[in-house]
Formats: sequence, structure tokens, C-alpha cells
Amino acid sequence: MDTWYIFTLFSAFIVGAVMGSFSNVCIYRIPLRLSIVRPGSYCPTCKTRLAILDNIPLLSFVFLKRKCRYCQGKISWRYPTVELLTGIFYLLVYMRFDFPITIIYTLLVTSLIIISFIDIDHKIIPNVITLPGIPIGLVLSYFFLPHSIISALIGLLGGSGLLLLMALIYPGGMGGGDIKMIAMLGTFLGWEKVFLTIFLGSLIGSVIGIAMIILKKGGRKTKIPFGPYLAAGAILSIFLGNEIIEYYVNFF
Ligand SMILES: [Zn+2]
Repeated sequence: MDTWYIFTLFSAFIVGAVMGSFSNVCIYRIPLRLSIVRPGSYCPTCKTRLAILDNIPLLSFVFLKRKCRYCQGKISWRYPTVELLTGIFYLLVYMRFDFPITIIYTLLVTSLIIISFIDIDHKIIPNVITLPGIPIGLVLSYFFLPHSIISALIGLLGGSGLLLLMALIYPGGMGGGDIKMIAMLGTFLGWEKVFLTIFLGSLIGSVIGIAMIILKKGGRKTKIPFGPYLAAGAILSIFLGNEIIEYYVNFF
């Protein structure tokens, strides 16, 4: 590895951490229907506007020792977690894919992280992300993505149709937000990978759901947000989808 490549890897991580910082703003503000642009970042406890030095991804959290400089209020672990996670995914996407797919997948992963944390906090998946995502994914599949627009359309209709069916069979589990999310993912991933996403998401969700019942962290009736599992399934499909599908096809 030459120095330049290491520098670009580092840059990809930094861009991801900065986007993670922006994602934190979106996660906090979108469900409250606040503008994600104005005002600039502020402390959620004392509402003081943050200076640039208070707002450096990952580093400010460490140097401020988890406290707001103005009100001493605790800063949630959520903030550096989202920044670190986004930084790592940007690095991985950069290593794995070529331009312009890198740009598309990093933005898709960003939206999946925002959706997941909003779903965990509020049990909703915001339409403001998923609905515009559907036509954007269709257009990108026509011009740039590795699958055809036909595959994107089958992914859109087949994926959301399957989730709608699951919602009708098990009422109370899946919601409209999940269906719109998978419709968006169908356009971005194509039909094979969107079905893989649903399969992997359901698998991860079942394993964690069973573990939570065993650990008595809430009974069978606790509403589990499905968005983060679909997001995890989608990210696995992005990185390992081709290998998993190839293995599956060769197996039969
Ligand atoms: Zn404060």
C-alpha cells in the first residue's frame, strides 16, 4: 500500500465521520419536523449553539470528556457511535467499489443509518427519506447501478409486495414505513438483493428477538422496530450479496 492510497482511505473515513455528524442532526431533527439546515448544531440540553471546536466528529466527544462545555450536560454515546459507524462504512465502500458507485452506496448507507436510529427512537421510518428514495433509485439504476431498471422495478414491486404480505399475515409486526423502506431498497439493490435483504433482515431480527425473549428484555409483545434489521440486511447484501447469491445458485 502506497502513501497516497493510505491517505485516500483516511480521507474516506473522515468524510464518513463528518457525514455521521450530519446524520446525528438528521436523527434528532427529522422526527421533530425541524429544519436539518438551520440553525447550526446546538446542545440538546441547554440549546447553546456549538462552536466549531465543540463539534468535531469523534474528537470533541473525547476532548470534552462526554460533557457539554456550557451546561455540563452529558453527551450521549449515540453521537460518536453514529460518527464511527458511518466512518467505517465509508471506508469499506471506498475500498470495495469504484466511482460513481462509491458515492451512491455511501449516501444509501447514510440514509440507512439515519432510518435505523430514528426507528429505534420513535418506531417510525420517515417518508421524507424513503419516498424520494424510490424515484432516485430508479433513475440511478438506469444510469449507474450494476442492475437494470427492470430489476429495480421488480425489486420495488416484489420486495414491497412480499413485506405487505408479511404485514397482512402477522398484523402488528411490519408497518407501512418498513414497506416503503423496502420499496426504496428494491430500486437501489435490484430484485435479487432486495429479497436477500428481506431474508437476512428477518433472520437477524428473529435471532435477536429470540435472544431478547430468553434474556427477558421485554416479552413477545414488545414492538421491535424492523427498520434496523432491514438496514443490516441491505448493508450485508451490498457487500456480500454477489458472493451469497453465487453460492446459493451453485448449491442447487
Ligand atoms: Zn449544553
